[in-house]
Amino acid sequence: MVRKIIHIDMDAFYASVEQRDFPEYRGKPLAVGYAEARGVVATASYEARRFGVRSAMPSTTALRKCPQLIFVPPRFEVYREVSEQINEIFMDYTELVEPLSLDEAFLDVTENHKKMASAVLIAKEIKERIRAKTGLTASAGVSINKFLAKIASDYRKPDGMFVILPKDVESFVEGLEIERFFGVGKVTAQKMHLLGIHTGADLKKFGEEWLVHHFGKVGHTYYYNARAIDDREVVPNRIRKSVGAENTFETDLEASTKMTLELYQIARRVWERIEEEQFYGRTITLKIKYADFEILTRSKTLPSPITQFRVFWDTAREMVKLIDTSEKKVRLMGLSISHHEDAQLPSGGIQLKLKFKD
Ligand SMILES: [Mg+2]
Repeated sequence: MVRKIIHIDMDAFYASVEQRDFPEYRGKPLAVGYAEARGVVATASYEARRFGVRSAMPSTTALRKCPQLIFVPPRFEVYREVSEQINEIFMDYTELVEPLSLDEAFLDVTENHKKMASAVLIAKEIKERIRAKTGLTASAGVSINKFLAKIASDYRKPDGMFVILPKDVESFVEGLEIERFFGVGKVTAQKMHLLGIHTGADLKKFGEEWLVHHFGKVGHTYYYNARAIDDREVVPNRIRKSVGAENTFETDLEASTKMTLELYQIARRVWERIEEEQFYGRTITLKIKYADFEILTRSKTLPSPITQFRVFWDTAREMVKLIDTSEKKVRLMGLSISHHEDAQLPSGGIQLKLKFKD
């Protein structure tokens, strides 16, 4: 069966919330973040983007590009509130909601509470309801899997919608620039260009083994995505209880070896707590906060509870290797374990309140 996946992404989220709440900022170049020496821009308003101001850009650079740029400090409690409001809208359609950050989520609407056959209509409705409830705009991508839905939501920003129908996916992916593929950062893109790979059609010429040989494990993903295949499910965040630890770094990390070393310290601390509390869960969650405050989480669930540090560490290390640090530096990492057998919910009939992880 062909799935119907929607990716919803709020437009210039933090900046739009500030412009909504403070009319004096409307129509002006605005950056959420701090104008200090080591500060970075978390989100730039569209007016600021016209001057070349971007997320993760050092504040000093941003001010050089746009001297009249207004800086406002982030108000995460407000962003979290809005995040919960949009999540409630999503839940009217499906329980299969997977938040990626405060302002982005995947929805699987193949089957939905409203029995609507058209994912396009659902996406349209959701956009309208978000605007009515929050006064903010979102962009939507609709397609047959996560890979394509996420690309699509970026295609007509802001306040846009883009649909890639099943009959069009093949030609769409063939024409797609390599930079748009999942797991392709600046460095990988350069390497691909040297190998003559510029589009999905180019990528498709290479075998799975060859891609894994040249790019490591993520080569499998490239191989399947080039064929518009992405079987990853939309996994709702049903974590009820967890044990974890995190660390904010004095200087942002960019090298992955450094990240692995830091992660090892965190893993040790988490493991101490796990042993203390005898909390042997099955799901490991890695949390990354980038220098621009964007938060990313990745979870992996093992078939049985993790009772040995070696298994915990090996899994966490594999997960951190897949984090792309070619674009942005990392300022915080966290690890947690959840999905403890006792914390499992009885299946069926229970309405779960899903929250964005942060
Ligand atoms: Mg966004």
